[in-house]
Amino acid sequence: MSRLDLFINRMVSQRACLDHAAALTENIGGPVFELGLGNGRTYHHMCAIMPTRDIWVFERAIASHPDSTPPEDRVMLGDVFETLPQAADRFPDGAALIHADLGGHNAKKNDEFARRVSPFIEPLLAPGGLMVSSDRMYFENLTEIALPPDAVPGRCFIYQK
Ligand code: SAM
Repeated sequence: MSRLDLFINRMVSQRACLDHAAALTENIGGPVFELGLGNGRTYHHMCAIMPTRDIWVFERAIASHPDSTPPEDRVMLGDVFETLPQAADRFPDGAALIHADLGGHNAKKNDEFARRVSPFIEPLLAPGGLMVSSDRMYFENLTEIALPPDAVPGRCFIYQK
């Protein structure tokens, strides 16, 4: 499979999983978290499909497209290993939906990172809440659920509390 194929599959899967997760969490209260703003494409999509949600962005350095830059008061700036514990204190009832796209181009490094960050994400979900990730995560008590039809297996993962 070419890098172009991999990239397209990731994009298609992110959109399909975010649309699916937004619909499934419609009636769950609480904020939505975007972990890893990057260019802001997925953030922009999340704002479009969840216009009434309070969406918080976790990013160490904002460098997004101007159209996809969150308001300053909705950014938790810094390394997620510091900001996720702060979010646990700030949102004790948890988030309805967490999307994470924190990886780079090295699959082995992404997997190591996913193992390290999973315990920081797991306590942040509200009951019934969903976590959508571009990498396989390593949760103790969340259940992996089926992907929507348009998503490509292995390119996106959805977990439920
Ligand atoms: N989903 C985004 C989009 O659609 O444009 C792309 C996200 S990009 C692949 C990953 C982002 O995660 C980068 O902007 C990087 O700075 C951020 N990131 C990676 N590790 C991080 C960490 N430990 N703490 C905070 N942000 C991190």
